[in-house]
Amino acid sequence: MTQPSTLDVDLDRDYTMTIDGEPATAPSTFEVVNPATREVIATVPDATAAELDEAVAAAWRAFPGWSARPIEERQALVSAIGDRLEEHAEGFMALLTREQGKPRAGAEWEVGGSIAWFREIAKQSLPDEIVEDGPERRVVTRFTPLGVVGAITPWNFPILLAVWKIAPALVAGNTIVVKPSPFTPLTTLKLAELVSDLLPPGVFNVVCGGDDLGRRISEHPDIRKIAFTGSTETGKRVMASASGTLKRLTLELGGNDPAIVLPDVDPERIAPQLFWAAFQNNAQFCNAAKRLYIHADVYDAVRDALVAYARTVKVGDGAESDTGLGPIQNAPQYEKVKEYFADSRAQGHTFALGGEIDESAPGWFVPVTLVDDPPETSRLVREEPFGPILPLVRWTDEDDVIARANDTDWGLGATVWGADLERIERIGRRLEAGTVWLNEVHQYSPYQAFGGHKQSGIGCENSLHGLTEYTNWQSLTLNKVPGSV
Ligand code: NAD
Repeated sequence: MTQPSTLDVDLDRDYTMTIDGEPATAPSTFEVVNPATREVIATVPDATAAELDEAVAAAWRAFPGWSARPIEERQALVSAIGDRLEEHAEGFMALLTREQGKPRAGAEWEVGGSIAWFREIAKQSLPDEIVEDGPERRVVTRFTPLGVVGAITPWNFPILLAVWKIAPALVAGNTIVVKPSPFTPLTTLKLAELVSDLLPPGVFNVVCGGDDLGRRISEHPDIRKIAFTGSTETGKRVMASASGTLKRLTLELGGNDPAIVLPDVDPERIAPQLFWAAFQNNAQFCNAAKRLYIHADVYDAVRDALVAYARTVKVGDGAESDTGLGPIQNAPQYEKVKEYFADSRAQGHTFALGGEIDESAPGWFVPVTLVDDPPETSRLVREEPFGPILPLVRWTDEDDVIARANDTDWGLGATVWGADLERIERIGRRLEAGTVWLNEVHQYSPYQAFGGHKQSGIGCENSLHGLTEYTNWQSLTLNKVPGSV
C-alpha cells in the first residue's frame, strides 16, 4: 500500500517532536552537531516530564483503537511507513550522514534496512496457538499487546535501531513513545513527522531529550515495556528504573565480539572482510569484531595484509564520496576513544598502524589503529573502546582460544573464519554469543533473532521471538461442557 505523503516535510529544519500526531515543542532546546565539522546543524526540543506525560497519555488514548484493529490493517500501515520512507530515502540518508557522520554506503545500508524492516516485520504475526481442542475442552495461547511501549535508542544506528522497535511494537498492537539519543535525534524526529498523517494520532510519538528523559521513561508508571539499545552500564540503570513497575524489558547492550581466524585462511582475501568486520561504522558498532584472534601460523601475514588494506580506506567527512570511515560521533565518545590510545601507549603496545590522533582536525577524526599483539589482560582486549582501535592477538591452541574468547561478561556476537568448515562450526558452537557468524559478519534479517548472552542483553529483537516480546501471552481455556468439573 503506497500512500504518498500529503505533508510538506523539510528534512533540513523545523525539528519538532511528534505527540498525538502533532508537532510539539518544549520549554527549552539543545543543539545537535555534525561530528565531521563540529558545527551546530539543528536545535531540538528538550522535553520535560510534562511533554513526556502528554506523549504517554496520547499513546494510551490511541491504544484501544489501534489494538482493536485487525492485524492486517496494522501490518499494512507499518508497511506503508516503509514506502513513505523510501520516497524520502535520499533526504534521510543525507540527514543521517550529517547527524551521525557515517559515509554514504553506511547511510544507504541503514536507511535501506529501515525500509526493508518496516515491510518485512509487517508480514509477521502471532496467531493464536491451539494447545488442546477436544470434545470437552479447548486451550488457546493468545499473544495480546502490552499497551504503551517506551523505546530508547543509541547514536550509532539511530534510525535503524528505532525501526527495530517501532515496527514490531505497532504490528503487535501497541502504541509507542520513542526517545532517540540526544546526539542523533534528527532522523527519528523526521520519521515521526513524515508519517503523522498516515497513522492515527498518538500511535507513534517521539520525544527528544537527554539521559534524564530516558530515566523518566524507564520509571514512568504508565509505560508497560522498555525496548532499549545502548551500553551495558545504561542498560543496568534502565533495568533498575523499570523494576518499580515491573516493566517488560528488551535490552540490547554492549559487546566485545571475538573474531577467531584459523591458520588455513588466505591472508590477502580475508583482510578486507576482517577489516570491515572490525571497522564498519568506524567501529562504533555493538557487533564489531573487537578482538582479532589470529592463528600464529598466519599472524604476520594477516596483520600485514590488514595494514595494507587499511591504508586504502579514507577517513573523512561522510558527505565526501570517497570516504570509507567517518568521524567518531560525539565529543564524549572521542574522549573515551582517546583514553584507549593513551593507555596503549602507556603500556608500551606496538602499533602496526595508526596510533596518533590529530586533535586539530575539523571533526572528531581518529585514524584506523591496529595494535600488534597486546597482552590478553590489556584494557584494549578486555573492554569495548567503540572506536577504530583494534587489538590483534595470537593464538595456537583451539581450546585455549575458545576459553579466551568466552572469558568476558559480554556475549553479543562472535565470528570464526577459515577454510575448514567443520572446524569453524565446531568452534562457533562453543562460543557464548547471541550471534555467531561463520565466514561472514554483520548479516541481519527481520527473520533472524538478534540479542545478547550474558551482560550483552536480555531478550531479542527481530523474528517471531522478537515480536513475542511486544506481547503478553494469555492462556484462554474453555470448558465446553458447562457444569462439569
Ligand atoms: P548509552 O547507553 O549511553 O545511551 C543509549 C540511550 O540511553 C540514549 O538515548 C541515552 O539518552 C539513554 N540513557 C542514558 N542514560 C539513561 C538512563 N539512566 N535511563 C534511561 N535511558 C538512558 O549508549 P550509546 O553511547 O548511545 O550507544 C553505544 C552503546 O550501545 C555501546 O555500548 C554499544 O555496544 C551499544 N549498542 C548495542 C547494540 C545492540 O543491539 N546490542 C546496538 C547498538 C549499540
